[in-house]
Amino acid sequence: MDNRAEGEILSEVLTDAYGRQIRDLRISVTDRCQFRCFYCLPDGEPPLARKDTILSFEEIERISSVFVSLGIEKVRLTGGEPMLRRDIEKLVTAIARLKPKGLRDIALTTNGFSIPEKAALLKDSGLDRITISLDSLDPDNFKDITGVDKLDDVLKAIEAAQTAGLDPVKINAVVVRGRNDHELPAFARFARETGVSMRFIEFMPLDSGHGWNREQVVSGREIRTAIEEQYPLELKRDSRGTETAWRYGFKDGAPGEIGIIAPVTEMFCGQCSRIRLTADGQIRTCLFSTVEHDLREVVRSGADDEGVAEYIRAVTLQKEASHHINETDFVQPERTMSFIGG
Ligand code: SAM
Ligand code: SF4
Repeated sequence: MDNRAEGEILSEVLTDAYGRQIRDLRISVTDRCQFRCFYCLPDGEPPLARKDTILSFEEIERISSVFVSLGIEKVRLTGGEPMLRRDIEKLVTAIARLKPKGLRDIALTTNGFSIPEKAALLKDSGLDRITISLDSLDPDNFKDITGVDKLDDVLKAIEAAQTAGLDPVKINAVVVRGRNDHELPAFARFARETGVSMRFIEFMPLDSGHGWNREQVVSGREIRTAIEEQYPLELKRDSRGTETAWRYGFKDGAPGEIGIIAPVTEMFCGQCSRIRLTADGQIRTCLFSTVEHDLREVVRSGADDEGVAEYIRAVTLQKEASHHINETDFVQPERTMSFIGG
């Protein structure tokens, strides 16, 4: 029996074989990047995808539209460095047209490149939120970690994003033992002083140099302890759900927020709501997938929207139950974070 109220439309929700609803689409718009973060692209860019294999804005818009018809509510543009894609704001405008159809949120993850010039334009184009990566507050250590001398530029980008009203501004720091874990209290102070949401991420085996090792992973628990030695935290009541971060406020009521993302030591695959599209049009059902699904071929071979939707539904059913980082048979995916899109 159909229990719908009159006029109510039952919309589809993409669901995987384990009953997880997929609501969150991450789109890598380029595999290029001018930074050399040691945990991501230490040796520079791998052979780039051929230009004609990179999805056009029109193709990304169409694919996003099909995903939204399947219940996707959040789209995040990432890379590589998404701001290297010329006129990225035009893609934001195009995706924002999907908001009346069920899309709730458009976000961007960036190293801050050209954000001071473009933050207001991005906001006007329909961008809701921004995440900026910042792995050190010390200029020398920043250069050591990212390979570029650009701490000041990133700090300016953060300010510009706040001024443009992109709210909240989230800051990602990958915490790596011996490299920046001594800066944890300074990062917490930065959150208190600027009001940003500071998110600490455990180092994952997705670096192109395959230099990851377990000893370098600073666990979420250690991160929290190090911060609480100076700034006691309290868990936010609305924290987690399908989010990846545990979110904390400061007990003394100071502004800012601390988020801890611990995919290695506190696996959250059971709540995963994500699916990924690479710059060259491959669907990845997990960051750690060792197989990809060629959506570009489906789109370019002339499939209609229902054909594209059918392919996406079938691929979603192949989403992995969980990653295997903590198992002895773990195989690091061939593609790195810069290609998959973090
Ligand atoms: N270039 C942009 C940036 O750096 O924000 C967007 C792409 S980057 C791949 C997205 C996020 O992935 C960044 O916040 C980065 O710190 C994170 N990331 C990259 N490699 C990682 C790794 N091996 N472990 C954990 N996080 C990683
Ligand atoms: Fe580039 Fe972002 Fe990877 Fe750093 S983390 S190398 S900025 S893609």
